[in-house]
Amino acid sequence: MKKMSRIPIAFLPTPIEKLTRLSQLLGGPDLYIKRDDQTGLAFGGNKTRKLEYFAADALSCDAKTLVTTGAAQSNHCRQTAAAASKLGLDCVLVLTKTDDQTESQSKKNLSGNLLLDHLLGAEIVWAANKVRDETLKSVFQTLQEKGRKPYMIPYGGSNKFGVSAFAFAVKEVVLQISDNSQFDRQPDWIVLPSSSGGTQAGLLLGAREFGYTGKILGISVDEKAHLLKNRITDLANETAEFHASVHRFNEKDILINDDFLGRGYGIPGEVEIEAMRLLARYEGIMVDPVYTARAAGGLFQLIRDAFFDIDLENGCSILFWHTGGSPAIFADQYRDLV
Ligand SMILES: *Cc1c(COP(=O)(O)O)cnc(C)c1O
Repeated sequence: MKKMSRIPIAFLPTPIEKLTRLSQLLGGPDLYIKRDDQTGLAFGGNKTRKLEYFAADALSCDAKTLVTTGAAQSNHCRQTAAAASKLGLDCVLVLTKTDDQTESQSKKNLSGNLLLDHLLGAEIVWAANKVRDETLKSVFQTLQEKGRKPYMIPYGGSNKFGVSAFAFAVKEVVLQISDNSQFDRQPDWIVLPSSSGGTQAGLLLGAREFGYTGKILGISVDEKAHLLKNRITDLANETAEFHASVHRFNEKDILINDDFLGRGYGIPGEVEIEAMRLLARYEGIMVDPVYTARAAGGLFQLIRDAFFDIDLENGCSILFWHTGGSPAIFADQYRDLV
């Protein structure tokens, strides 16, 4: 892969921990966790890795304002606002409100990530979901006209910069595992929540480039498997091409489980609540109700369903990639959850 400029914003490498008590409770594979919730930037999360590369590109373009978009409780937007603060840039966030929400209701509901966006000094523009992309374009144009030198970061930070960040993250993991005597080999699986697809696309490309030989399973958070596979394939190929990599991907290479979509994006049910409780009570680890609890709950269900083959001699080991999201635990809409 090409060397890319990055601004070191994240605390790297993030730790890997063994989930001893939880592995015992579930009685199946050995579980480990990659703590990308500990990347350090304003409560951390997976977007911080991506932002290291966006930040470098933005500064090289002499940008003055970072612009991006997401849901009201977007972790990506919160981390982008924090990166802007650290770099001395402005930040404009186009946040989507749900159809039954008025703008003044959205403004009043200052909790979780949205509270942090305000604290970080981001300018917020509200848009209905349907007109998100038009709004984003017109916001960008206005900033340009005003001479504020905007730099656009795509939804979820998923393009060749964000994907590359997670390809390089595989190099980090491969080294961590070979240096650590508690591992006699690489984990058989990496399991992660997958949404805009950049994280999983990066892990797939990084696996080929840096020699991770296990399987990578994305638990879809908000979309049917075929749509997500499609996007991940494109993102992985685009990024591979950019790096002049010999590797190419097709949909058959992408493993996605979409059994845990429940009642939709950001609506936690029994699966998520149980995962939040189990990780908290057995390991003292917090997962968020939107992404990481859905993926962890899905993983626990798959373990109970004996989805993962357990080799008689070697057992089975799984690395759960904790992608962050902790501020969403404190969002008003989840107040009565647990
Ligand atoms: C954005 C996000 C994801 C999904 O990552 P993608 O690269 O968009 O697939 C997972 N977990 C958390 C906490 C996130 O904020």
